Amino acid sequence: MTTPCKIIGMYIVEVWIEHPVRSLDQTYSYLSNVEILQGCRVSVPFGVKQLTGFSESCTYTEETEEQIKQRFGFSLKFISNIIDEQPLINEELHDLALWMKDQTLSTTISCFQAMLPSIVKPLGKDKHRVKEKWVKLSDEEVNLTPKQLQAYLYVQQNGKVKYSTLREMFKTIPHTLVEKNAFILFEEERDAKPIENEVMAAPFALLDSQNKAMHEITDTEDAVYLLHGVTGSGKTEVYLQLAMECLKQGKQVLILVPEIALTPQMIERVSSRFHNALAIYHSGLNAQEKYEQWKLVKNNQARIVVGTRSAVFLPFDQLGLIVMDEEHDASYKQDVQPCYHARDIVIQRGKYHHCKVILGSATPSLDSYARALRHVYHLVEIKERINHCFADITLVDMKRAMMHGESFILSDTLKEKMQKQLASHKQIILLLNRRGFHSQLRCKSCQEVIRCPHCDIAMSYHRDIGKMKCHTCGYEMYVPRICPHCGSGDGFTTFGFGTERLEEEVHQMFPGVKTLRMDADTTSRKNAHAKILKAFENQEAEILLGTQMIAKGLDFPNVTLVGIINGDEGLNRTDFRSAEATFDLLMQASGRSGRKDTNGEVVIQVFDPSHYVVQCTKEQNYEKFFMHEMQFRKAGQYPPYTYLIAITVSSTQQNKVDHTSLLLMQHLQGNFKVIGIISLLKKKDLYRQRILLKGKNLDEMRKQVKNVLTDTEMDINTIRIDVNPLTLD
Ligand code: ADP
Ligand code: ZN
Ligand code: ZN
Repeated sequence: MTTPCKIIGMYIVEVWIEHPVRSLDQTYSYLSNVEILQGCRVSVPFGVKQLTGFSESCTYTEETEEQIKQRFGFSLKFISNIIDEQPLINEELHDLALWMKDQTLSTTISCFQAMLPSIVKPLGKDKHRVKEKWVKLSDEEVNLTPKQLQAYLYVQQNGKVKYSTLREMFKTIPHTLVEKNAFILFEEERDAKPIENEVMAAPFALLDSQNKAMHEITDTEDAVYLLHGVTGSGKTEVYLQLAMECLKQGKQVLILVPEIALTPQMIERVSSRFHNALAIYHSGLNAQEKYEQWKLVKNNQARIVVGTRSAVFLPFDQLGLIVMDEEHDASYKQDVQPCYHARDIVIQRGKYHHCKVILGSATPSLDSYARALRHVYHLVEIKERINHCFADITLVDMKRAMMHGESFILSDTLKEKMQKQLASHKQIILLLNRRGFHSQLRCKSCQEVIRCPHCDIAMSYHRDIGKMKCHTCGYEMYVPRICPHCGSGDGFTTFGFGTERLEEEVHQMFPGVKTLRMDADTTSRKNAHAKILKAFENQEAEILLGTQMIAKGLDFPNVTLVGIINGDEGLNRTDFRSAEATFDLLMQASGRSGRKDTNGEVVIQVFDPSHYVVQCTKEQNYEKFFMHEMQFRKAGQYPPYTYLIAITVSSTQQNKVDHTSLLLMQHLQGNFKVIGIISLLKKKDLYRQRILLKGKNLDEMRKQVKNVLTDTEMDINTIRIDVNPLTLD
């Protein structure tokens, strides 16, 4: 009699599955015959579907399937397919994802997704990864002609050679040798080409002010530093020298910059110092390029990374320094789930790697500065500009200027200063934070503005395409012949103006002057951004005009005048942060003038010169603005005095929105204020309502929201949670 063969044990694998429904945010158990490491993707049957998931844990058992069934109360299914041999999410990032989901009240899977380049995201439908052909030697013995031998030896020397390179060198021979089985052809994923920069720049000798700041950071043992230095005080140089120190110790460096500040200028500056160990990660890259840069970090080929928000999740293994430049910038906050702020993430990663985090800004966020004053962050200040010059700021009261019959776009004061600069061959930057030609069209009969049918928001007229455009959803349409609201055919009056109109005004006032325009309309194509800046740098145009894109991080020594049009327009928004955002923009834009060795001039055109935001900008006084704004926040009980959680319910069906909001309202109770239900403007065909929680105990607020949500069958797209929202719109 044969003994029954011993049953080999198996593995029970816990898997997070891809699913947007909140109540499914838990792991599910599956069987596997092989061990699967945490953070690997697997494909699993779920209901009638086949879903991708991430392995959470894997335990060995010698139970039979039957025993397992009895233990669980139902039979477990087998994993259908293991997608990755090596984990995509390492242990640090795994723990970070779980932490982040609690912080942002999102789902585990959405956090994993946020961390990965789209090519390897679980929801990505096995997107195409670009492969390349390579050849290596086979073991076959073959007879070779002398020419073939040359190619053969070349491959032997190099181990493996890209097929295309070999074809260039040896024409048809590689093909023949593949046919002969002397070479083996194989495919590999394409890797990033190293960033090459011929210019090697030596570091500057630091000025006293920079040196002091640098030493305050290196000689102390704090975790988070807030480097507050006026624009042009040499902060970037301090970052680069700190980075150099860190690389010398064999550690990695992450430098985060805001979306629009990752200019070619910045990349050039960093790459000229750190040649080949550099990776660049930003949203301008396509999926394949992002994946290649991600691999550079994962395979430890990149030692220093410059990137925007999502670079915060790159799989570093030995971080020695994290810099977050312009830490106040709104692009650090993600506005889809999970609504994380990169600042919170870098601080958390800094803790894990025991590395210093430097938050830098000329206009720190109120939250960060308040923390620095309470010694939660170590405050380091640089008060002088490198060139010891300061911007000379002139305010123009537009109400008065227009009463005197001046142009409502360019006042006489600004016009005269422009003339003077142009005469001495200097360059000018003009900022107007609104694009398009006219911002609105109003019906002459009923006075209604033309709104986007999908968003309820006023549409802007763009003359270059002869159409109206919605800046929220991108919908375009021709100007209607009759008013969509009242049906009158009386026509429309125009209202407000944007960069396109500004450009025309400049051409009319200064015939022959060359301008470059930079806004969302002129930069939609890849690298358009870089081309415009390069052209301005090469002085191919006297004037660069554009939206807030041109306010940040640019360093053009020949610019001696900055004109800001409608400088206080941003104050009309009802958002509690509108003063802060306007102050940042005015200060940053002013900082573009006079960066070499002349005092720069700045002209700010406003309708209310007495407003404290405008006054503090004129005095270039951050502290004064801070004190004033904090009083306002305290009076209104806004952050940083309180915490907010915004819950936005949205759907294409109004009744679904009504119903869900009411349900949430009924259940949300605790030691905090519940403000709502507020109906928001329709956006991209979605009806939206918001409930706002305001209170002093964020943990309690989170707990309450979490309790209410666990029971809902809603997905994370219908109920969007934003903890510590930056804007409320
Ligand atoms: P910030 O980042 O504070 O706006 P930057 O680091 O861009 O300031 O410096 C402003 C300008 O001064 C840049 O053109 C930079 O090259 C130059 N610069 C910075 N540090 C020094 C230094 N120590 N010596 C000479 N030039 C410097
Ligand atoms: Zn009308
Ligand atoms: Zn729209």
